[in-house]
Amino acid sequence: MGATKIKIAKNLARIRENIAAACARSGRNTDDVGLVVVTKSVGLGEIKSLLELGVTELGENRVQQLTLRAAELDEYLKRRRNGPLARPRWHMVGHLQRNKVKAVLNVAGVIQSVDSLRLAEEIDARAGRDERRVEIMLQVNCSEESQKFGCAVGAALHLGELICTLKHLRLIGLMTIGPLTDDPQAARPAFVRLRELFEEMRHEKVGGEGFRHLSMGMSQDYAAAVEEGATILRIGTAVFA
Ligand SMILES: *Cc1c(COP(=O)(O)O)cnc(C)c1O
Repeated sequence: MGATKIKIAKNLARIRENIAAACARSGRNTDDVGLVVVTKSVGLGEIKSLLELGVTELGENRVQQLTLRAAELDEYLKRRRNGPLARPRWHMVGHLQRNKVKAVLNVAGVIQSVDSLRLAEEIDARAGRDERRVEIMLQVNCSEESQKFGCAVGAALHLGELICTLKHLRLIGLMTIGPLTDDPQAARPAFVRLRELFEEMRHEKVGGEGFRHLSMGMSQDYAAAVEEGATILRIGTAVFA
């Protein structure tokens, strides 16, 4: 095993231990907490290592890098001689402009960063042309002062209802980005807000059975996110540093 792969394996093991400890503290099952590794800060070598280590849920926050990465990796997997590897599933986690929707749909399995009806409608229209149904999450701005993107907490329920009328979308959950600070506890109120909003939406029968994910928690704050009910963590730095 190369040095990079060993480092990543160790980091993943430590992250999984921390997740298990946070699950134990909050009476949760580790099977209910998934990990998306955000690869925006690394090269193709690290991504290959991830796949070899069995990580298949990957995330990018920029359309151009997402499409480039996905294409490069496809090519590599096609040519690879030493045993087959599972193909990754890409999550788009960054701000998405409507004119980039087509490019994203070519590669992403999940779009976590839907934050307006106009964007949702554009994704729905494009997906309709391909006769497919796209998994999306509604990004909510739960730490109102510090984030530019995401819909307001007060607008989320209604927006969720509208999104659920779009036939080629499947709303699978809510996503939020905690406030950007070094204090891991500072994000907790935002996570609590997202979970409460989620419960309120479930109570109002938004989304149905498939509406079941809370995507929250990054390198600095994932333990708090697990304790507050995250089902998808998006972690980059802690995997590669
Ligand atoms: C970069 C990024 C992450 C991962 O952040 P780290 O601090 O590197 O773990 C998660 N979510 C989004 C939307 C990101 O852009």
